[in-house]
Amino acid sequence: MQQTEPADFFALTSAARLSLAHLPTPLEHYPALDALVGTEVWIKRDDATAGAEAGNKIRKLEFLMAEAVAHRAEVVITCGGLQSNHARATAVAARRLGMQPVLMLRGSLPLPEPREGNLLLDELLGAEVLIVTPEQYAERDRRMRALANEYTERGRRAYVIPEGGSNGLGALGYVAAMAEVRAQLDAEPTRLPRAFDAVIHACGSGGTASGVMLGAAQFAVAPQVIAMAVCDDRRYFEERIATIATDAARYFKQPLTRATLRVIDDFKGPAYAVPSAEQVAFIRAVARAAGVVLDPVYSGKALFGLANMPDKPARCLFLHTGGLPGLLAESRRFSS
Ligand SMILES: *Cc1c(COP(=O)(O)O)cnc(C)c1O
Repeated sequence: MQQTEPADFFALTSAARLSLAHLPTPLEHYPALDALVGTEVWIKRDDATAGAEAGNKIRKLEFLMAEAVAHRAEVVITCGGLQSNHARATAVAARRLGMQPVLMLRGSLPLPEPREGNLLLDELLGAEVLIVTPEQYAERDRRMRALANEYTERGRRAYVIPEGGSNGLGALGYVAAMAEVRAQLDAEPTRLPRAFDAVIHACGSGGTASGVMLGAAQFAVAPQVIAMAVCDDRRYFEERIATIATDAARYFKQPLTRATLRVIDDFKGPAYAVPSAEQVAFIRAVARAAGVVLDPVYSGKALFGLANMPDKPARCLFLHTGGLPGLLAESRRFSS
């Protein structure tokens, strides 16, 4: 028998989950990438979790939207940046389940015309978009709760999902993803390695890192997770990820064996959602060498970070977390 028992995620939790993503996502090796990155790198194609709702957020939404359904919500409220992948994925999932998406986005009016990338999809889906200033966005949790109360008073039950879907429940999506990787490694022992030295991915709100930290060692995928920050800093994320992981641990019947967490904040580039010229050149090189298309806000910066780390792990599992609509909203930055 294969080593199925350690990968049995649902033996460990009774959390409800909807099937929204196309799973398992492929786990691939691109020899041309190894040369560019300077180490052995396998890619978990979580950019291919779905259609328009693809990316890492849909894994979290399988758990979050299950709770929204259990609460009989008619409206789903969430938040993010103007080009938020999470807000867009939530809008798709909400519509699929017959709910109205309401998105509180950090930005300024007027909105860019024509609509591009995630904003275009938000519009297509008929999401109610509320633009708030950075100061207002700083109070997003309080504001979303107030908004939910307003809907409820008007007779429409509302469910609030925090930024990035990053709470304990959402993080279960990435604990489950690690069980999924374990099952893949066990099913194809000749094509795939037995395990990895580290799981590496872009970190924006901490939920993915929390789930990977709880699942990677538990399911013997890797002893270490490397979270490449694309905003804030190492101290912020160490605290944030620990808080979310504590919240996530509540859903498990037993303590999970945690992977070592390493947050790296050296490769954020000039600012959130702004890549350096070197990062743009790297994204271009990766696309041309391997046919792997990274985004300039998250996955591109994270793989760039791995390529530029002085002490790269020997065998890496890189989570391609998606973000293609964000790239397609950046034609000015990428046209040569
Ligand atoms: C949200 C996002 C991330 C970061 O995941 P968090 O769980 O928010 O840290 C990485 N890549 C892409 C493409 C994303 O949209």
